[in-house]
Amino acid sequence: MSKRIAIVDNYKCDPTRCAHECIKFDPINRSGGEGFRLDEESGKATIGPEVTSDAHQICAKKCPFEAIKLVRLPQEASGKPTLFQFPNCAKNLTQAQDWWGDIIGQVDSTYYDLQSSADDFYQRYNTSDNIVNVRALALCNEEGLRINYTKGGCYGDSSADVIRPSEQSLMNLMNCPVMGSVNRRRAEQVLALFSGD
Ligand code: SF4
Repeated sequence: MSKRIAIVDNYKCDPTRCAHECIKFDPINRSGGEGFRLDEESGKATIGPEVTSDAHQICAKKCPFEAIKLVRLPQEASGKPTLFQFPNCAKNLTQAQDWWGDIIGQVDSTYYDLQSSADDFYQRYNTSDNIVNVRALALCNEEGLRINYTKGGCYGDSSADVIRPSEQSLMNLMNCPVMGSVNRRRAEQVLALFSGD
């Protein structure tokens, strides 16, 4: 079954002018768990990608500013066998801890560069006649790119017994031009071989 992630448009989300409908109607919150909440830093709505599901359509529908979009994550080339390969497709948790356990929680800095460029673009071109929201078009989000131990993927289906470093990646989101911390580190290691030092 394909997964869902929630994209919150931080320009539209304004918790000072709504009744926090996304939080109130969240089926996980209503059953005592943690679904939509306000992010401590940004003050905007957020939800962990690991708990997001079709049931959160209700949150998108209830938001008075249409700030939430649910996006289906495509299966990675489903039907192909799972590919186990360094540095980002580990056979099990022990191997994953060995490969990227030292950078758990990191988010590739390219993500912040991307958001900052989108902000700049928005500030320049957002007028009442011409609303351009680049940020909403970039389908990655901070939590989705945060390094952790995510089950499934690596060309196999989402239930395959494999661990990868993040929920989102260049491989499964066409609009996510972020390499990810694990791949970045590997690319830098390889490039360093040619640095001449
Ligand atoms: S997503 Fe919508 S309902 Fe939720 S806090 Fe933001 S504006 Fe309010």
